[in-house]
Amino acid sequence: MSSDLSDLYQQVILDHNKRPRNRGKLPTANRVAHGDNPSCGDQCNVYLRLEGDKIADISFDGSGCAISQASASLMTTQVKGKTAAEAEALFKQFHEIVTTGKEPEEISDLGAFAGVHLFPARIKCATLGWHAALNALHGDAAPLTTESHLD
Ligand code: ZN
Repeated sequence: MSSDLSDLYQQVILDHNKRPRNRGKLPTANRVAHGDNPSCGDQCNVYLRLEGDKIADISFDGSGCAISQASASLMTTQVKGKTAAEAEALFKQFHEIVTTGKEPEEISDLGAFAGVHLFPARIKCATLGWHAALNALHGDAAPLTTESHLD
């Protein structure tokens, strides 16, 4: 592994990959969406319980590279308890971090993914779970593929 890649796999990412949070099916989910990133072979299902405008509970499962699985795990911890609008604002922030490398102004685990911008092919890995979560939020349960979706 090159030193650049080991920078990419920072401790937060390694930790979420080793001990994923909110992993597994959510029996009480009322929204489900699937994300697929064929360029890397990543799969991610997001299970979400929406109560009014609030994400009451969320989980994910899937398989793929460390970036995709750690990002989905971190995503669930960030959006749980948030409103749909807050979750979208968080994704906007995360998207900026992974595409520009700009660290968040407030200390946030999202910043662990700043190194991803050096590896453009991995941006889709990092955003897969987020796209699936937003699709679930919007009630669009159709399979999502990053090939037909903007990063
Ligand atoms: Zn990947």
